[in-house]
Amino acid sequence: MSVRVRFAPSPTGTLHVGSARTALFNWLFAKHEGGTFILRVEDTDQKRSDKKFLEDIFGNLDFLGITTDEGPYYQSERFDIYRKYAQQLLDEGKAVEEDGAIVFKVPLQSVTFKDVLRKDITVQTDLFDSLVLMKSDGSPAYNFCCVVDDALMKITHVVRGDDHIANTPKQVVLYKALGFEVPLWVHIPLIVGPDRARLSKRTGATSIIEYRKQGYLPEALFNYLSLLGWSPGDNREMVSPEEIVKLFDIKRVKKTAAMFDMKKLEWLNSKYIKEKPTKELAPLLAERLLEAKMIESDYDQVWFERVVDVSKDRMRLLQDIVTQYAFFFCEIPEYKEEAVEKHLTQEGIEKTLSDLAGLLKTAEPFDTETCEKIVRAYQEEQGLETKQLIHPVRVAITGSAVSPPLFDVMSVLGKDRVLKRLEHTLKNCLPGAKPGSTA
Ligand code: GLU
Repeated sequence: MSVRVRFAPSPTGTLHVGSARTALFNWLFAKHEGGTFILRVEDTDQKRSDKKFLEDIFGNLDFLGITTDEGPYYQSERFDIYRKYAQQLLDEGKAVEEDGAIVFKVPLQSVTFKDVLRKDITVQTDLFDSLVLMKSDGSPAYNFCCVVDDALMKITHVVRGDDHIANTPKQVVLYKALGFEVPLWVHIPLIVGPDRARLSKRTGATSIIEYRKQGYLPEALFNYLSLLGWSPGDNREMVSPEEIVKLFDIKRVKKTAAMFDMKKLEWLNSKYIKEKPTKELAPLLAERLLEAKMIESDYDQVWFERVVDVSKDRMRLLQDIVTQYAFFFCEIPEYKEEAVEKHLTQEGIEKTLSDLAGLLKTAEPFDTETCEKIVRAYQEEQGLETKQLIHPVRVAITGSAVSPPLFDVMSVLGKDRVLKRLEHTLKNCLPGAKPGSTA
């Protein structure tokens, strides 16, 4: 029997981390088993469903590389089908009409179902003695259309969040009443924040689109979400999609809630950024700078790849290029107050910077090695410590106390801009300069 699974989002909100993980586990299971991944849109609630959410869900599944083998099916286009099965239950006397709704009368029994991750679960049906099938407005109720669709779509395993576990016995009862074969169930535990409470905005439950905006790479999110509640069995953190598919074992999904760790996701992202070939990374970063109007569309791509080469090792998010590497894309950077205060106030700083400006003027070629040779020779000759020289020069050139390796930065900026910034610093940023003229 070939595996058929489905992801069944309701387009009433954006794709958040939890649903993305559910989609991913379904997809990984299907790919691992050579099965079929079906997409079904549960848009029966016309009032709350919105096209913009659907676009968000599709767009972000696509971004994560979660491809659909079958569908999307839309429940809103299948009302006739649900009505037909509701009629069947009416005709068989298993359901009745009540105030325009069709309601299933649940026979008293105990229902047992198999969850792949747990022991069999048994529930008494006196907990839910009647189930609405079709509402009085003509739309189907979730538990009913879900069963009809899962049965007709020949779903073999219903893999979904364990917040649905209370629905399962109701659905099992309906399978039996309709004469459908009951699938296997896999209720995957919720994701919690570091406080062990259900993931919330505060602890990272933002939508995938938020992560995308901040500059998380799809490969990092894919990797991270795959390991939320499942692991390949060793302690590896960075695993390629191909390998995850090869190793993914639905039976080994953990039964306890998975803890969402933003720091770890960020760390993984920085690893993927560092690993990504510059040629592939550069356009992703340029896109952000273009949007922020920090470069023009005819920007120098060859030069930009040099920026990326020297920057990517310390980048955590793609958006860092806008927030932390802006000094590459302007004539005079913004000077951070704390950095200026800490590194440009020491005695002798004026002489140091102006000596260096004079020396760097002669650097030929103006590359990493030559800049380093000149600065190091001066440092030795003057008997200066790193904090007396390298840190101030970094602040003078980048406006900040942290940056990629200084001599690489100099070489990428080029002689003109480096000298201009040293002059600017001498004139405007040292103690005694007119206040308010540091930017
Ligand atoms: N539309 C339901 C949801 O978004 C699907 C539940 C299920 O997978 O059965 O939670």
